[in-house]
Amino acid sequence: GEALAVSARVAPLGSRLVLLLVEDLTEARRIEAVRRDFVANVSHELKTPVGALSLLSEAVMDASEDPEAVTRFAGRMQIEATRLTSLVQELIDLSRVQNDDPLEDAEPVRVDELVAEAIDRCRHQAGTKQITMAAGGTAELHVWGNRGQLAAALGNLVENAVNYSPARTRVGIAARRIAAPGGDLIEVSITDQGIGISEKDRERIFERFYRVDPARSRATGGTGLGLAIVKHVAASHGGEVTVWSAEGQGSTFTLKLPEAGGVRDRVEAAAASG
Ligand code: ADP
Repeated sequence: GEALAVSARVAPLGSRLVLLLVEDLTEARRIEAVRRDFVANVSHELKTPVGALSLLSEAVMDASEDPEAVTRFAGRMQIEATRLTSLVQELIDLSRVQNDDPLEDAEPVRVDELVAEAIDRCRHQAGTKQITMAAGGTAELHVWGNRGQLAAALGNLVENAVNYSPARTRVGIAARRIAAPGGDLIEVSITDQGIGISEKDRERIFERFYRVDPARSRATGGTGLGLAIVKHVAASHGGEVTVWSAEGQGSTFTLKLPEAGGVRDRVEAAAASG
């Protein structure tokens, strides 16, 4: 009786999993293309800050008699170093999403830990711009997925919120559980008071290498890959990412992910216990 009941519960989910798998394969091909393009681009992207750092350090040595110039050059070195750091971070994120089946080593992941990690990742950048970061509602919530990939997704969204906001603004991160037919979802939203995104650009920002303002994005180490990674992670976890924005007022990115302890979890537990 119990076995029958379990298989009855698994059957409808089974077809959903097959669907997810098919979507995963297309996604895997897409991310493979991202990786190829990225490798082609990255040498070029890395060369710029490395070249600048080397020139600037020479300039510092030549200007040792002129403290003002040294300070100026040091400031520019810091900008280039920040750029390098985010390029390397993007490389790390990309290597995290290489795993073709993210749900293979999925586990319940605490939302408050993911959020703390994302905030940590841009604490320095937020500090220099005096941007306040505040998180709420994350306690006791768990999502189901690959920890590294989820961290990459959330990290990118919070990083963007900081990067595309003027000084002395606020970035808010809120999480809540929402009921959904296929099992409860956890919704994490990141709200900024930044430059916003026009309707025309909103349709394209999730494409790889798409940047509204390449010069501005490059200055913060952006490659236009961040949101492509976020979209990939959301989709491969059976979730989605959406954006709301008003130009000049700010943006809210919303990440919906399956709750741990939801349907998927229960089916795995039932399968494990035979
Ligand atoms: P990038 O590395 O350039 O940040 P992303 O893929 O993360 O690339 O984002 C693509 C583009 O979307 C960015 O270049 C930027 O123009 C825009 N964008 C992303 N997040 C925000 C945000 N919170 N506010 C305004 N614009 C944003």
